[in-house]
Parts: sequence; C-alpha cells; structure tokens
Amino acid sequence: MRGMEPDHDVAIAGGGASAVLLALQLRRRWPGCRIGVAEPAARLGAGAAYATRQDEHLLNVPAGGMSADPDAPGDFVDHLRAQGFAADVAARYVPRRLYHDYLAARLRVLPGAAPHHARAEAVGYDPAGCALLLASGERLRARAVVLATGNRPRGLPVEVPAQAAGRVIGAWDHDAVAALPAAADVAIVGTGLSMVDAALGLHARGHRGRIVALSRHALLPLPHAAPGEAAVDLDALLALPLRARLHALRREAAALRRDGRPWQWLMQALRPHGVALWRSLGDADRARFLRHAVRYWDVHRHRIAPEAAAVLDAMIARGDLSLAQARLEAIAPEQGRLRLDARARDGRALQWRVDAAIDATGIETRLAHSADPLLAALREAGLVRAGPCGLGLDVDADGAVRDAGGRARDDLYAIGSLRIGAEWESVAIPELRVQAARIAARLAAHGG
Ligand SMILES: Cc1cc2nc3c(=O)[nH]c(=O)nc-3n(C[C@H](O)[C@H](O)[C@H](O)COP(=O)(O)OP(=O)(O)OC[C@H]3O[C@@H](n4cnc5c(N)ncnc54)[C@H](O)[C@@H]3O)c2cc1C
Repeated sequence: MRGMEPDHDVAIAGGGASAVLLALQLRRRWPGCRIGVAEPAARLGAGAAYATRQDEHLLNVPAGGMSADPDAPGDFVDHLRAQGFAADVAARYVPRRLYHDYLAARLRVLPGAAPHHARAEAVGYDPAGCALLLASGERLRARAVVLATGNRPRGLPVEVPAQAAGRVIGAWDHDAVAALPAAADVAIVGTGLSMVDAALGLHARGHRGRIVALSRHALLPLPHAAPGEAAVDLDALLALPLRARLHALRREAAALRRDGRPWQWLMQALRPHGVALWRSLGDADRARFLRHAVRYWDVHRHRIAPEAAAVLDAMIARGDLSLAQARLEAIAPEQGRLRLDARARDGRALQWRVDAAIDATGIETRLAHSADPLLAALREAGLVRAGPCGLGLDVDADGAVRDAGGRARDDLYAIGSLRIGAEWESVAIPELRVQAARIAARLAAHGG
C-alpha cells in the first residue's frame, strides 16, 4: 500500500452487494477506515441482483444462507424477523428487494462516517497515486483499491440495427420489461436466470402475448428441493480427471434417486467445495468443462425457488411460454416489429416476428471481451491479467490482483465474479462474504 496522504483508506470500484459486504467487514476490523465507493447507481448494495423492486423476483438461496456476515450466519434472518417475518423464513426464498433493504439497513448503522459514494463510473487507475479515476473527473485516492465491478451483461451475439434498438430491452431493465404492453409478442434471448426473471415479470403483470425463449440448448434452471443431506467423498473426487469426476457424480445422483432422495442434495453437498474442485482441474480439463459441461452444470448448480419453477412450468404447459433450441443469427426491424432469424440445432432456419426482444444472454466473464472501461485500462497498462481460461482476473488466495508478470499487487484487490477464472464458485453471497472478510483482514493488518 502506498504511503501518501490519501482521501480514503480503501476505494471500491463498483457499489453492488460485494462493496457493501466489504464495507461492513472493513469497519469491523478497521473502525476508522475511510471508504470511498465509485458507483453510478443511486443506491449502494443494489447492483444487478438486488436492484429489482418486484416481488416475483426471488432470491435463489434460502434466506438462512444469505447473511452478510460469515461469522453471524443468522444475521439476514434476524433482520427479517425484526421486520415481522416468522421463524420459518430461514428456509424461504424471499423477494430479492428485501436483500437490498437488509444491506442498506446494515450500512446505515455502520459506526463512523458513511462511505463516500461518488456517483460515477471508474474508468482508470493511477498506480503512482493509488487513485481510481472516475468518468466525472473525480479521483478517489486511497491506500488500496478493491475492484467490485460484478456482473456486466454479455450483450446479444448479433448487431442490433438502430431502427430496432428501441424494441430490444436488457433483462435487468425491469421497468422496461414491466412497461411492455400485455398483448406484445416477445422473444427472450437466453434461457437462464435472467430469462426466468423476465418471464416471471411478464407473467406477474398478466401478459397475454406470446413469449418465446431461445438458446442453443434451451435448458432451464432446475428447481431447489427441500433441504437434506448427501455424503460426498471429496478426496476421491478431487483425485479424478474431469470426465471420470462427472461420471462419478452422475452415478451418485442416480443412487440418490433410486433411494427416493433428490439429486439436489448432492449439489448442495458439493457447494462448499466448488473452489477446491475447480482449482484441482488442469487447464485442459477446465477448458473441456467450459466447452462441454458448463451449461449442464449451471442449470443444476444455479437453481431457482420451487415456486418460481412452478410458475414457469405452468406458463409452458399453457403455451404462454415456449422454448426453442436455436442460435440467434440476426435481428431486423420489419413493419414496426422485429424479425428474429435463428438456426435450429438440426440446421433448420427459424424465424419469429415479435413486438420486442429481451436480451437475457447473461454476464460477460471473459476479460478480453469485457466492456468495462476500468478493466480495459488496467489490462492495457499491464496491471492485471486474465485468470485461468481467460476468465476474470488472476488473483492470489486473498484476492490480491496479479499483474501481467504474475506478481500479486499490494494496492489492488478483486472481489466477486471477477474471480471466477481463479475460483469458479465466486458469484453468490456465501462466497462473497468470505472474500470480503479476507480482503478486509488483509487490508486492516496493513493499515488499520
Ligand atoms: C439476477 C441475479 C440474481 C441473483 N440472485 C442471487 C441470489 O439470490 N443469491 C445469491 O447469493 N446471489 C445471487 N446472484 C449472484 C450475484 O452475483 C451476487 O449475489 C451479488 O449481486 C454480486 O454483487 P456484486 O457487487 O459483486 O456485483 P453486481 O451486483 O453486479 O454489482 C456491481 C456494481 O458495480 C458497478 N460497476 C460496474 N463497473 C463499474 C465501474 N467501472 N465503475 C463503477 N461502478 C461499476 C455496477 O453499476 C454495479 O452496481 C444473483 C445475480 C443476478 C445477476
């Protein structure tokens, strides 16, 4: 960390949930720590996941697993109970907006001055002055900088002509999705969690138009089951290469099913070991996983609340929502509507004419493809390098960012999905709160 007289002890780029988790951990370990956050949005702790105010957008982790503090696992449940929820709320999938309210409440009672919130995007970093450079011209000078830029949409794989742009909506633009006329025919590109949000949002507003969701495999996220335990032999799994590992897991899942127990218990048992499982794979196996297995892994791993799955199933059964296995090839305006051209997996040309398209293609995790100007600037300056398989940033075990030469820096850290290449299991609160605690402990040891 630099020895100059900065305005802040720690500057955080990005003000989503990760930034709030980090601020809470910093203040606990380093009481007077002065924190600056660069975040264009008005609310800290909202980000991609918790900005929604719509009740149908549920957490995909039961409330009991969502504490902000790894040392106080019941903290979110305590907060909800203080709001009048019953004790059984720990097992429930509550609306995501309540999680933002919780983070905001914990931030409000943080001892000391509130973090300085600079309402601007961070676009560069000056390593000599240890300063985040903001699009507004402001500089956040600090002893250390933490990159918490989170999830950025990947964007459609085709160019959208200017005349069609107004009819193409991002799935996280919940207000725009909610404003679609009930009779509009809608195509959703992508069939993952963002598609689920969009479809549930349309359903909750009594949508009557046709909805088609397309992706190359058209796999939907699977539902959670009631909690239960399954045993995994972690050492045996870690010793296996990818193919044999996946076979072993399929055998385990089949054995559970034979006993009348849900396969979800196996995924739940594997959950805390995601980082170890990823790290134990060689580069070739990681690349194989991304090419052949990730889409199947994701729908089993990133499950949705059973009540959300039930609504989707009913929409499909009624024909309100149809799924198509197809790769989008073009979007064009046509007589005031949109024409989508796609290629089915068997090579057939497919076409839809709709009133609007929703981009639910998910997040961009490849560093070289990131649209974040800050990451681009850091990469060009050789201050960061891509993590394994080109995903996110390369970091050490505490999240210190490695520069182009592989040296872990003492002024730059990363939290959240930027660590996906190094750790894989690095997007949900159970991992983020641990990352926040470790970064805070390291920074406090140097500066607190
Ligand atoms: C739709 C959705 C639902 C989810 N549901 C759950 C759930 O139920 N449970 C769970 O555990 N996890 C869930 N997740 C996972 C999610 O990644 C984390 O829970 C959490 O939201 C991650 O927070 P974050 O701050 O790391 O990233 P984000 O939420 O993406 O926040 C990053 C913030 O950084 C800002 N930013 C980006 N670039 C810059 C820059 N250059 N300068 C300044 N600011 C910048 C953005 O404006 C944004 O506010 C969900 C994710 C999504 C997308």
